[in-house]
Amino acid sequence: MRPETFDQPCRSALNHVTGMPFEWTLNPYMGCAHRCTFCYVRAFERRADRPSGDAYGRRVRIKPNIAEVLRRELARPSWARETVVVGAATDPYQPIEGTRRLTRACLEAFVERGNPFGIITRGPLVVRDLDLLVEGSRRAKVAVDVSIPTLDEALWRVTEPGTAPPAQRLRAVRRLADAGIRVRVAMAPLLPGLSDRRDSIERVVRAARDAGATSLWAGMLHLQPGTREHFLDTLGAAWPEERARIEALYAGRAYLPKRVSAPVLAEVAALRRDTPRRADAPGPIEPLFAPDPEPPAFARQLGLAL
Ligand code: SF4
Repeated sequence: MRPETFDQPCRSALNHVTGMPFEWTLNPYMGCAHRCTFCYVRAFERRADRPSGDAYGRRVRIKPNIAEVLRRELARPSWARETVVVGAATDPYQPIEGTRRLTRACLEAFVERGNPFGIITRGPLVVRDLDLLVEGSRRAKVAVDVSIPTLDEALWRVTEPGTAPPAQRLRAVRRLADAGIRVRVAMAPLLPGLSDRRDSIERVVRAARDAGATSLWAGMLHLQPGTREHFLDTLGAAWPEERARIEALYAGRAYLPKRVSAPVLAEVAALRRDTPRRADAPGPIEPLFAPDPEPPAFARQLGLAL
């Protein structure tokens, strides 16, 4: 079912965030039609008194002016050309991007300025923007994280109902890797007892490396209020006994205790180390020059300037 969409211009494009491994994010859309049952944004929605259950992701805000606002912000003398992560709160390649192309417009702004950026997505549509990712990688550090927590079709259908199948996402990883993009596979979130078993992790790691992923990382499921209810309800509708088991595991807490999560993450790290990347995958593109606000003359001569 298509979400209802509405346009609402933004006043700022770049968001400063704390408590994350990055400081700046950008989201051309608010709300996510992928509607993953485990989405941590549901918890933020609950705190903001917005729908966090089944209605989450059925209404998506579009920021039609985001690229022009971004261009102004990137041009400020105070902007220190820090890395911006696109898509930390919603997926920048959710279906609406196919027609609105706002993520693409923002990438154009980053590339023009030689600003480093990262993308987090479950959307294979990211390959549409390969030209910008290649050009951006020549000018600054660029990385794409493609989330693939499992290759199990039944589990994917229940927990990531609006996303493309994992096999399609793997094909996107391959396309990106073949073009020299630094592409990582994010196994997130791993669901205890469902997708954190060794055989399941091993399948994803092998498939990711075979596709050419330059790296992999993993994170375990968090169940904050807002995410917890919807996740447990949808899981319970498919597999009642799994609901009871996970409910017991997370009783009175949002995060798994370290004694449960640490061995799983250590296993991912060991498999990542021991599983080589496909031998014929090209190395990632390294930026050719430290970018200036105006592309230098030699970059124009090399055909690197847009
Ligand atoms: S794709 Fe990401 S932002 Fe969208 S619903 Fe899934 S987890 Fe949330």
